[in-house]
Amino acid sequence: MDETVRRAVEFHGHLCPFVVVGAKAAGYAMEKLGAGRASDEELFCIAETANCAVDAIQAVAGCTLGKGNLYIRDYGKNVFIFGSRKSGRALRIYFNPDVFKGRSFEERVELALSLSPEEAFKAEFVDIEFPEEAEVRGSVLCSACGEYAMDTKVREINGRKLCLPCYFATREEGKN
Ligand SMILES: [Zn+2]
Ligand SMILES: [Zn+2]
Repeated sequence: MDETVRRAVEFHGHLCPFVVVGAKAAGYAMEKLGAGRASDEELFCIAETANCAVDAIQAVAGCTLGKGNLYIRDYGKNVFIFGSRKSGRALRIYFNPDVFKGRSFEERVELALSLSPEEAFKAEFVDIEFPEEAEVRGSVLCSACGEYAMDTKVREINGRKLCLPCYFATREEGKN
């Protein structure tokens, strides 16, 4: 097992076929884009799935939910688009799961580990609109629960500013 897969497994919690696929996709994209592990938002990933591979991408490429450089567009497809803000280039990677058909879990893991990126993926540079970088937003005090919420998430109803849970609770009450 190479270092990237080891790092992914440690973060994900177990060794499975798609954590290997994700680790390889991340490593391959970083190589093709000439990018290191993202410390900030210089590298981002748009994942069209929310499976085990996404954990590997967070661990290996540093594209994470918390930093805002991982975008989940869960179409249930093994498509991972990596973009480098430095070079302005983006690489789209597709993994065809047909290779796993008729194989046991162990065999899938073995296969995923043995495939080279060229064998495993369809990869192409693509022209995409880069997502906007995450901004730091201010906080607003909710007039119902007295807790702060990000200003973009606050709703106003009858002149009161409410966090989303309070806003939805108020609407529910209104129905009764
Ligand atoms: Zn898994
Ligand atoms: Zn509230």
